[in-house]
Amino acid sequence: MLSYKAPLTDLKFLFEDVFDYYKHYEKYPEFEEATPDLVDAIAQECAKFCENELLPLNQSGDKEGCTFDNGKVTTPKGFKEAYQQYVDGGWQSLSHTVEHGGQGMPPSLGMIKSEMMGSANWSWAMYPGLSHGAMNTIDVHGSDEQKEIYLTKLTEGTWTGTMCLTEPQCGTDLGQVKTKAIPNGDGTYNITGTKIFISAGEHDLTDNIIHIVLARLPDAPKGTKGISLFIVPKMQVDEQGNVGESNQVTCGSIEDKMGIKASVTAVLNFDNAKGVLIGPENKGLECMFTFMNTARVGTALQGVCAAELSYQNALIYAKERLSMRSLSGVKHPDKVADPIIVHPDVRRMLMTQKAFAEGGRAMIYYTAKIVDDIEMAKTEKERKEADNRLGFITPILKAFLTETGLEAANHGVQIFGGHGYIKEWGMEQIVRDTRISTLYEGTTGIQALDLLGRKILLSRGKALNSFTKEVLIFCKEKSMLSGNPYKRQMNKFIWPLSKSIANWQQYTLRLGLKAKKDRDVVGSASVDYLMFSGYIVMAYFWAQMAQAAYEKLAGDVENRDFYRAKIKTAEFYFDRILPRTKSLAKTMMADPKSLMQLDEDLLSFL
Ligand SMILES: Cc1cc2nc3c(=O)[nH]c(=O)nc-3n(C[C@H](O)[C@H](O)[C@H](O)COP(=O)(O)OP(=O)(O)OC[C@H]3O[C@@H](n4cnc5c(N)ncnc54)[C@H](O)[C@@H]3O)c2cc1C
Repeated sequence: MLSYKAPLTDLKFLFEDVFDYYKHYEKYPEFEEATPDLVDAIAQECAKFCENELLPLNQSGDKEGCTFDNGKVTTPKGFKEAYQQYVDGGWQSLSHTVEHGGQGMPPSLGMIKSEMMGSANWSWAMYPGLSHGAMNTIDVHGSDEQKEIYLTKLTEGTWTGTMCLTEPQCGTDLGQVKTKAIPNGDGTYNITGTKIFISAGEHDLTDNIIHIVLARLPDAPKGTKGISLFIVPKMQVDEQGNVGESNQVTCGSIEDKMGIKASVTAVLNFDNAKGVLIGPENKGLECMFTFMNTARVGTALQGVCAAELSYQNALIYAKERLSMRSLSGVKHPDKVADPIIVHPDVRRMLMTQKAFAEGGRAMIYYTAKIVDDIEMAKTEKERKEADNRLGFITPILKAFLTETGLEAANHGVQIFGGHGYIKEWGMEQIVRDTRISTLYEGTTGIQALDLLGRKILLSRGKALNSFTKEVLIFCKEKSMLSGNPYKRQMNKFIWPLSKSIANWQQYTLRLGLKAKKDRDVVGSASVDYLMFSGYIVMAYFWAQMAQAAYEKLAGDVENRDFYRAKIKTAEFYFDRILPRTKSLAKTMMADPKSLMQLDEDLLSFL
């Protein structure tokens, strides 16, 4: 049976000591209610809901899955009641705008809420999670009327939302989208086509579902430049927001899949379904990016959730399971054998899980501040600047945190030995559930191309330089040459971090030069490059956490072991995880020839 306790001590540490969130909130009068007392109360209430209501539905939801009967989908037992409790508790509206029924709390608080919900039960959390993306898209690109009709109900949680991009012939290459939108001449459009793999596409949690759909207008240009975005409700909605008859959107079937079995994945058939255009004609993909960026950071969170849940359970097991004796001498002579936690290899796996879970959380909290800045930007310049920062960090977050989350989940199975493979314990479920995170919202390969090709080389390294500049300022302020009172202790982090940053810049330059001569260089280096970048980014946050922990320990604080553990985990990260960049540097700089030289016909001799 899986267990989960929300990491409230870590949350407080990151919020107050590492990222100084309350100072950040002070910049925005709209966030004046986000005081320490209120944030603590919200975190504690959310923790209770996740631990007591969502966690118990995690394994039962996996076992039961969603059921499909003649176009109708039933979610597993308890899901509907938990969703109603979530809506009644005002959780859906927490960080959405007051004008449309939200509570106006910062988006960053919403992200923290999502982590707890996702750790306790990722499949359940996907239903409200998809709605957030739909809400953000309507909020940014919708007309006042569309906001009035759709946003209010989505904010209340009375309706949920979806994202309808994928079609049978394309997921990554959305330029191939075929779904048609024919204007009716009255401001509405008839939408016809098939969308597959639609999360939360049909369910019994709410009476209406608002689909955000990519489709083509007649005579639209070919490829991505001819795609528009539409709001298509499951049940028709009139101009006053009243729900009418069914809207010719039917669920053809649902997928039988590897994991997240309680999260429905639907085939949706649109057959002259009525929709309205959102955003300008043929700019659908650009508008959809609002949705996708939210969703990508949300998916990055799935990696952290998997690492945290797997770690918490593996730690309990490693302290209880007895096997052989410690190589450095018997640790528990009163027992028939020592617990497996004494063995260095088990420690290696546990510490890796811990480093990824806590390091990943820090990366998310850092990004959540940028999301607040975008939302609250007063000028286009401010918004663009924050948007560029988010654009740079998003592919790293999405791909690196899901890959490391999956690694952590696999370590969890390994720590349980054969029992990790048995369903009862829930450890194999975490692997199955999190496996999708490296695939949807753009695969790791696609995120890596976006990072190296578009965000770095096309911008001539501008976004990278602004991030590395920030890290180098931190290094300078904490270095042996600074007035930092903990400079001696911090040197073990600052020196390798500065060196890693110099390498990152140098390798990027060299890859850029090589790519000018051979275009396959980008594609062959990109995933290794992304992981290389991710390890350095995470090192920056481990160094920040170590500095904050030293500062806390210098004062009269309770819970001193928590801060000591932070420093020791940072030491582990720098000793045993960051060096992975050395091997990645070697492979990403290798000539693409060895990848591509084998003729397609010679790949197999069957
Ligand atoms: C459980 C689940 C839930 C989902 N939820 C949604 C949803 O809510 N809404 C929605 O619209 N979609 C959803 N999807 C679809 C998902 O986003 C896509 O499956 C994903 O984007 C990959 O697209 P694809 O499956 O068509 O793979 P393909 O695009 O066919 O890719 C196949 C492989 O080729 C690689 N590849 C493709 N092009 C390139 C390239 N140019 N360079 C290098 N490598 C390349 C990919 O990285 C991948 O490894 C979901 C899918 C699943 C399984």
